[in-house]
Amino acid sequence: MSLEALNKRVKTDLSYLAFGGPDWVRPVDHPNGHVYDVIIVGGGQSGLGTAFGLLRERISNILVIDENKEGLEGPWETYARMVTLRTPKQLTSIDQGIPSLTFRSWWEAQVGAEGWEAIDKIPRGDWMNYLRWYRQVLGLPVINEVKLKLIEPTEEGIHRLHIEGAGAPSKTLLARKVVLATGIQGGGEWHVPTMISEKCPRHLYAHTSEAIDFEALKGKKVAVLGGGASAFDNANFALTEGATEAHVFLRRKEMPRINPIRQMESSGMIEHFHVLSDADKYAAMSHFFKHNQPPTNDTFGRASQWPGFHLHLASPWLDVEATSEGAAVVTTPQGKFTFDFLIISTGLLTDPALRPELSLVESHIARWGDRYRAPEEVFNPVLDAHPYLSPGFAFLSRDEEGKKLLHGLFAFNYSALISCGLSASALSGMRFAIPRLASAIAEELFLDDREKNLIDYFDYDEVEFVGEWPKVTSKL
Ligand SMILES: Cc1cc2nc3c(=O)[nH]c(=O)nc-3n(C[C@H](O)[C@H](O)[C@H](O)COP(=O)(O)OP(=O)(O)OC[C@H]3O[C@@H](n4cnc5c(N)ncnc54)[C@H](O)[C@@H]3O)c2cc1C
Repeated sequence: MSLEALNKRVKTDLSYLAFGGPDWVRPVDHPNGHVYDVIIVGGGQSGLGTAFGLLRERISNILVIDENKEGLEGPWETYARMVTLRTPKQLTSIDQGIPSLTFRSWWEAQVGAEGWEAIDKIPRGDWMNYLRWYRQVLGLPVINEVKLKLIEPTEEGIHRLHIEGAGAPSKTLLARKVVLATGIQGGGEWHVPTMISEKCPRHLYAHTSEAIDFEALKGKKVAVLGGGASAFDNANFALTEGATEAHVFLRRKEMPRINPIRQMESSGMIEHFHVLSDADKYAAMSHFFKHNQPPTNDTFGRASQWPGFHLHLASPWLDVEATSEGAAVVTTPQGKFTFDFLIISTGLLTDPALRPELSLVESHIARWGDRYRAPEEVFNPVLDAHPYLSPGFAFLSRDEEGKKLLHGLFAFNYSALISCGLSASALSGMRFAIPRLASAIAEELFLDDREKNLIDYFDYDEVEFVGEWPKVTSKL
């Protein structure tokens, strides 16, 4: 099957499912302009999948905005540096159960069934190409180069979004519901330990989430701090681009070997996580954080095959100093090491207080620490700072005043991890999470208009049956 034939197949499949049809949501008028039923912030796979999920619910008065140029949403072609995705290739996600929308369909349409057999994992750039195709074949309403700066709740229960960027059609947009599909750092920010940010000049280090000039690292000695998959991706990338040495430093005495995500993918832990009690959710995610994700075998294999690759276990950085010659000296319990450049792969901090777009409402957002007191053996302040969300990804309020302000705001990003499990945070969860999010939004829209919806129902008097009885027979 060619790509052209697949595009037709998608249309046919959707028509078999009676996709589309008239919206059921009532339009809302506002003196300041058009009111969208839903604005989705972020045009990565979560945002695109959510848009499709809402269209399936017959909610089409929606808009997706993304700060990046078209085709460069998410990490895939910006700062991700692995050769392939980490996810098993056969896992389905934003296709939402429609076979012709899967990555496999799209891949086989171009390279045939043997081409599918030939790949072990999905090449990173091809995943981005698949997302571009998905957006295009579904005709999703996305505008690029539009950044959300601030959410301002209005008196009428509508949210005014302050936006900017080359693609912004105006300074503000109005929406009844807002989904923050803002990605892995969208619930907080990337983390650089202050020991580094305060003591090292900016040109001597970068976080893995930043653009790094690897050309400038040719022939140089690089250190990578962190033991997760990205640390090894970056070490491998630096060596591939010509760095002579890449040293990865881990606090742990041994490499992490267990990936809890693989267990969750086959045990029901992803699809049914939201029905667990708070105590179970907290304990499960505390365990998840303890393990972290190890690098994939192929990533580790690629990095470690270079003669310039070095692994330092039991080597937390105790101190970092910049020398007058423009190098960085790292002190560990195993000794001091000198490098030309430091790459920091120390993960994220999640807390609504770190998000500028939530600054008017964050003080009302309930956190896990407000709702659940964890026993000492699983307590982790990082978990406590996560928002305590509804099973449908809605922010909940700490206080009476915040209820109205937060109504209609949904967090479909990494910060949903403790409340809703693997959902927006990895491909493995999206197949289950997106329909739940779309249905929660649809239910809230329906209930917001409950009174009018019921009046319409009771007043309905359209005649359907036109038969007559007793039958009038002709006298002729
Ligand atoms: C290096 C790396 C490798 C990864 N590899 C895998 C993997 O192999 N498998 C896997 O399942 N997961 C992986 N992940 C996790 C990955 O982030 C998610 O699976 C995926 O990107 C989540 O999609 P998303 O749409 O939620 O977020 P993203 O893809 O990050 O998309 C969010 C979008 O929102 C935009 N945005 C954010 N804030 C605003 C704003 N205020 N205004 C406008 N736009 C905004 C962002 O720029 C971005 O384009 C990886 C993550 C990283 C960082």
